[in-house]
Amino acid sequence: MEGCDLLLVASWVLPMVPSGTVLKDHAVAIRNGRIVALLPEAEANARFAPRSRELLHEQVLLPGLINAHCHAAMTVMRGLADDLPLMTWLQEHIWPAEAKWVGAGMVRDGARLAAAEMFLRGVTCVNDMYFFPDVSAQSLQKIGMRAVVGLPVLEFPTAWAGNAAHYLDRAEQVFNEFSAESRLRFALAPHAPYTVSDESFLRVRTLSDQLQLPVHVHVHETAFEVDDAFAKNGERPFSRLQRLGLVNEKLIAVHMTQLTQREIDACAQFGVSVVHCPESNLKLASGFCPVDALMKAGARVVLGTDGCASNNDLDVFGEMRTAAMLAKAVAKNAAAFPAHAALEAATIRAAEALGWAEDIGSIEPGKAADLISVDLSRFTQQPVFQPASQLVYTDAGSRVKNVWVEGEYRVRDGELIADDLAVLNGLAQHWGERIRVGQAA
Ligand SMILES: [Zn+2]
Repeated sequence: MEGCDLLLVASWVLPMVPSGTVLKDHAVAIRNGRIVALLPEAEANARFAPRSRELLHEQVLLPGLINAHCHAAMTVMRGLADDLPLMTWLQEHIWPAEAKWVGAGMVRDGARLAAAEMFLRGVTCVNDMYFFPDVSAQSLQKIGMRAVVGLPVLEFPTAWAGNAAHYLDRAEQVFNEFSAESRLRFALAPHAPYTVSDESFLRVRTLSDQLQLPVHVHVHETAFEVDDAFAKNGERPFSRLQRLGLVNEKLIAVHMTQLTQREIDACAQFGVSVVHCPESNLKLASGFCPVDALMKAGARVVLGTDGCASNNDLDVFGEMRTAAMLAKAVAKNAAAFPAHAALEAATIRAAEALGWAEDIGSIEPGKAADLISVDLSRFTQQPVFQPASQLVYTDAGSRVKNVWVEGEYRVRDGELIADDLAVLNGLAQHWGERIRVGQAA
């Protein structure tokens, strides 16, 4: 008999590779935080003598979800300004609130709250973008969330940096400070074409080549952004990024609601990853990402929640459902973005987008044991004809039972064990009170 630390035996396993696979009564063996085997239950019982065994009866086991676009620390601004268009929301509410509140304390607590919320909804990895990325990195590392931490670049001053050169210097410092952490990686995160100059984008490109980092940026979020840029410079923002040499396999382009067929083809041809944030786009009335057209062209589409101030939660299950439904309406085709495609967008495709597919995104021997199990036993998820349908089209996010990162429980039997709920409730209340009093003053 072969030893292993943990043997997970589940009614269904969705490994994501090969595409659309559903395995009944299979087991996953884990040793030293890595997956060593995926095999039928009977074979697993004959081969392994596990130190511990978990029977996931009427549960589906799948890779941990990846939130491919988030501003984790913004949990403390949940519901601060709702029902407003993007530029009003950003310029009149979010930027002034950030000018007042962004600092190490807010980012530390906000990122911690975000990580706990995401664990409870089955997210094991986040691609984040915010100020004080060193503080986010510490919070995420402490709670045990895998992360790609975005190193922000903007032209205007914030509490984090004074100008673009300063942001870039700090980006390099943070990258060096955490380079030994295996569950943390970094990306360069120029905020958007309308807040970053050509010169700074060229410096981002050089640094991205030098450090081999992805470039995570908001692009074509609204028609206004595109029209305004075209009126000012006679160039669409995506064309501008292409001229500056940033349209390549390292580009993680968020939103992309305004795309011509030529731009859609360019995404496929140059290996760009498009992060679709359907709930944020709907809430801010930003527009619709042409998911079906992108996928038909062969482009990679992944999913993100965006920050809590524009969503207002960090539930990737919710994004899968919204994305799957919205894609059908936009394409006028009920076969667009089916359940398995939505699940892949939140797992294996997202791992590829982050350049981390050698470790995460699917259940395959050799990969990290970043896994979740979802309970389908309750009548609200029954009967189960297709587990993927239940995961995407019912309220399955509320039925997340267990979450493991590198084989360690972060949620167990529905309870958060990565952090203390009472402390988290206190922190959220504390920031609510501080911001409320500050707004009134
Ligand atoms: Zn965003």
